[in-house]
Amino acid sequence: MSDTKSGKVTKAESEWRKELTPMQYAVLREKATERPFTGEYDHSFNDGTYVCAGCGQSLFESEAKFDSGCGWPAFSKPAAETHVDEERDFSHGMIRTEVLCSKCDGHLGHVFNDGPGPTGLRYCINSAALKLQSK
Ligand SMILES: [Zn+2]
Repeated sequence: MSDTKSGKVTKAESEWRKELTPMQYAVLREKATERPFTGEYDHSFNDGTYVCAGCGQSLFESEAKFDSGCGWPAFSKPAAETHVDEERDFSHGMIRTEVLCSKCDGHLGHVFNDGPGPTGLRYCINSAALKLQSK
């Protein structure tokens, strides 16, 4: 079910639970973080567009992906500024910036400002929140 006014995808938690794998559900809906170096896309550098595993919105292009060595897929910028929301996250005794899918509010990961590229940003994203669509 999608909200046509805001363009948001809103589903009952039970629906999400049915549609997502347990790992996707834990990350997207419960803000879990997958264990480093275990994610499907950590070391994948195939061409394509990474879309949200929850709603299919395009989130990151493979060109923006780089090997950060941190154990999770890292991107220098989102596919479109409007496709990700950022929120201050004070959990775990740290101040971080949480990255969410703007369409379904799914948790994706965090953004840090120690990236190597021109943006200086490092979007550290859980593989479980992403799906790679080949071009
Ligand atoms: Zn989404």
